[in-house]
Amino acid sequence: MLEFQQLSFCYPDTTAPALVDVSCTVAPGSYVVMLGANGSGKTTLARLANGLLLPESGAVIVDGLDSSDILRQRELRQLVGLVSQDPDEQIVSTTVLDEVAFGPENLGLPPTEIATRAQQSLAAVGLLGLSEHDPNTLSGGQKQRLVLAGILAMHPRYLVMDEPTAMLDSAARNEFMNIIDDQRSQGRGILHITHDLTMAAQANSVLVLCAGKLVFQGPPAKLLAAEADLVTWQLK
Ligand code: ADP
Repeated sequence: MLEFQQLSFCYPDTTAPALVDVSCTVAPGSYVVMLGANGSGKTTLARLANGLLLPESGAVIVDGLDSSDILRQRELRQLVGLVSQDPDEQIVSTTVLDEVAFGPENLGLPPTEIATRAQQSLAAVGLLGLSEHDPNTLSGGQKQRLVLAGILAMHPRYLVMDEPTAMLDSAARNEFMNIIDDQRSQGRGILHITHDLTMAAQANSVLVLCAGKLVFQGPPAKLLAAEADLVTWQLK
């Protein structure tokens, strides 16, 4: 279970906290959608999920591992893969294969295991035929799938995705989300930050952040019934 427990966070030199007392969970094999206006704290929560930021108070616990345990940060980053909006910011290698091998290499895995994971991950995202290509020559959708392959090669249990399809056209978006659905059905827990209310309709559970506070947590049907509240939360 990916657990956020009474999480509060304030950036240095700011007065208003980015997150206030947020508690929620993402279970293995579940699809959780997080909504919220710009500035409501969604990216901050995503960065707290895999230890890029550490909570000021409260805790992030991933399958029993506390993100504040700095000796186990590598393990945490392996357990929780973070996909952000712009793939160009995440791609570091000059070939598709090197990009997917990068994470497993950093884990110090043996070469045969690295090769196996790279092939499996490229197959999972439909990029097997492009191993020797330069990532710069790929389309936006292919680049985002490459980022995902690099994360899958680390065998994460949870995927936290911060508007991963915001820069993609609708065909690429559908392709990406089909892969995510496969990953969820294989047991990975998914936290999807998005502005797209149609994604919320497909979620097991929806979270709404407003000015750093969790103002809604529940099944999508309950959210879609809350017409007046949607306006208050600036989701329309
Ligand atoms: P969202 O992802 O919902 O747009 P963010 O988590 O990016 O929200 O931001 C939450 C709040 O924290 C906002 O008020 C934002 O201005 C502030 N914030 C975000 N990043 C920083 C930073 N690096 N330094 C100071 N304040 C920040």
